[in-house]
Amino acid sequence: METGISVERAIELIEQNVRPVEAGHIRATRAQGRILSEDICAPMDQPPWPRSPLDGYAFRAADSTGASKETPVALRVVETLYAGSWTERTVQPGEAVRLMTGAPIPAGCDCVIRQEETDGGEETVQIYQALQPYDNYCAAGCDFHRGDLLLPAGTRLTGNALGVLASAGLYREEIMLPVYHKVRCAVICTGDELVPNDTRPLPPGKIYSSNAAVLASRLSELGVELTTLLPMFSDSADAPADAIYEAAENADVIITTGGVSVGAKDILHETLPLLFADRIFWKVKLKPGSPVMFSLYRERPLLSLSGNPFAASATFELFARPLLAKLFGCADLKPIVTEGALAEDFTKKGCSSRFVRAVFRDGVVTAPQGHSSGQLASAVGTNCLAEIPPISEPLEKDSRVKVWLL
Ligand code: AMP
Ligand code: MG
Repeated sequence: METGISVERAIELIEQNVRPVEAGHIRATRAQGRILSEDICAPMDQPPWPRSPLDGYAFRAADSTGASKETPVALRVVETLYAGSWTERTVQPGEAVRLMTGAPIPAGCDCVIRQEETDGGEETVQIYQALQPYDNYCAAGCDFHRGDLLLPAGTRLTGNALGVLASAGLYREEIMLPVYHKVRCAVICTGDELVPNDTRPLPPGKIYSSNAAVLASRLSELGVELTTLLPMFSDSADAPADAIYEAAENADVIITTGGVSVGAKDILHETLPLLFADRIFWKVKLKPGSPVMFSLYRERPLLSLSGNPFAASATFELFARPLLAKLFGCADLKPIVTEGALAEDFTKKGCSSRFVRAVFRDGVVTAPQGHSSGQLASAVGTNCLAEIPPISEPLEKDSRVKVWLL
């Protein structure tokens, strides 16, 4: 087991130890949100024929040589085509075809002039501009060609991706798409102090468990199916061991919160040996949530987060997302990391990287007051984690920091 490692090393170890879930097939019309497990190639050109991107006239560019408002060129209008029309005609020198947006560009034409650059004539049109071949000309296959890689394995089937399939005629009931199975996750929260929300009144010494709600809703936002949500378990080693054993039956990944620090009741250290789980790392150089632990249990990843509400939430974003990305075979699930400028001085010193909830807008990072790991309320409305490097002096306003977008 590695210990005291960097965030990057922890993510690397997770990625090295996790394989994508198995793949199967699903009807294209029900595939929304799923991840492709194989490449999909285009069965046709899109558009299938040269297409006009605007309302105007198609002709041979060579016919417009020298044309201008002062010296227009006159062409004979031989036909009008609308989106959905078709002609077998080959347009000859000196001729033009009136076209509406989306209409096919007939053979013989190699450009389209915008209607506004003409007199809009019906039998004869005055061309006010000299065009080059392929000006305003959407060639057949300019979106994609038959045989092109349309969607690579690992693509999430979002609206745009399904739209691409539909434009290639593949969004049909009978088309079975190769996709990874949905990732199934179990969440187990431990702690003697935790009670469910329906415990009323709140007994002395107890608190409502918030981690289960945070993780369940984040998992669902990320397209994960929650198979087990055990809101709390007492701080004894056996109960979580039973829970983890049972959860593993129908989960591809297990996330626990609580009990991973170094206190007397941090029982995961006793629980995991009971299960013969293989511990890969424990303790990462970061704040909050440094006691995070990662193990493999019956070949399934088991991520154990600190119970502190904000720590659990931040380390979920940092570690569970790359883990899920690997399980799903979809890199999109990883947080996007960018850079921003601090809106204010950051004065809290530290010898490890500190992840602070913040709002990232127009390149500026604004952190709310109250960023202790036990506080969750100030995380509402934030959209990123700002990574404050280890500092012995305050970090001044406008300093550039890494920003993990959520
Ligand atoms: P632990 O990681 O078990 O040492 O817990 C650290 C802190 O987080 C303690 O103050 C716990 O009471 C709190 N905590 C642990 N689990 C939860 C939870 N599920 N919901 C809210 N707070 C929690
Ligand atoms: Mg505890």
